[in-house]
Amino acid sequence: MALKKILSAILLACAAHAERFEAAESHMGTVVRITIYAADDSAIKPAFERIAELDRELSDYNSDSELNILCSTAHDWPVLVSRDLYRVLDAAQKLAARSDGAFDVTIGRVTHLWRQGRLADRETLARVGWRNLVVRGGTAYLKLAGMQLDLGAIAKGFAADEALAVLRAHGVKQALVAMSGDIAAGDPPPDKEGWTVKIQPGGREMLLKNEAISTSGDTEQSLEIGGVRYSHIIDPKTGLGLTNHLAVTVIAKRGLDADPLATALSVMGEPRGRAMLAKYYPRATAFFTTSQADERGSINSK
Ligand code: ADP
Ligand code: MG
Repeated sequence: MALKKILSAILLACAAHAERFEAAESHMGTVVRITIYAADDSAIKPAFERIAELDRELSDYNSDSELNILCSTAHDWPVLVSRDLYRVLDAAQKLAARSDGAFDVTIGRVTHLWRQGRLADRETLARVGWRNLVVRGGTAYLKLAGMQLDLGAIAKGFAADEALAVLRAHGVKQALVAMSGDIAAGDPPPDKEGWTVKIQPGGREMLLKNEAISTSGDTEQSLEIGGVRYSHIIDPKTGLGLTNHLAVTVIAKRGLDADPLATALSVMGEPRGRAMLAKYYPRATAFFTTSQADERGSINSK
């Protein structure tokens, strides 16, 4: 009993000395901001290092990434992949099945064209299809040569979770990892109910603790061809960027779920999306917003 009292007194003293530290670095094509309350900031560096490690494994921009080596070598026969890549591919394939292919990481050939300002042709679409990616027993392979995987809609959420896990392993529980639209929150700041996060578009404020939030939409990245604004989120059935101007925010326990769900729900739309959530992710919350640029170029939200 006495020991318990001493321990809780020590814990209280530590909590009282928690200071706020914040740092930002560029990773995964975005600015990553880590905020913690701790005795010092020594846990931040290893957290950023973990994100950099995941970027080296999961990026489709870097030709030496484990992901891209897999794409160029693993046709027809299974290749052992790292634990990280396996976890992400496995989660991606589960969501692909549950969303009836609305979420599809084999979309890579289409997104690579999109980045050059081009729309997909039939030859490119023939290299897309989540059923042509086999993920099993620590291995993965692609059934067709020339397929390209793109983890852009899931890697950031996972990286935010993993950075939070590194901070926790260093004894820092009061932490927030924000990778633009993908944010993972740990315990709240001292004397707070949660971390205040503003959702864009709309500006709604949310209080988060021990959960993740992700927003997908075309307000940040879109491509205009012939007067039509195509989102960087692709409908795998057509190979075209979405034109529904939806912004979807998802709150889930893990970024590994929130990030890809926000993308999948953008493709599925609200009625189908809500039905899938109710069936497979009953504890996740989603907000759907329509953002449409008007003639003056501003954004209206409803
Ligand atoms: P952001 O990258 O802005 O956070 P998302 O999480 O929605 O937004 O990810 C969008 C990215 O995911 C695209 O840039 C593309 O690389 C990839 N992607 C696009 N459409 C799909 C899809 N239907 N399924 C899986 N990944 C997709
Ligand atoms: Mg996403």
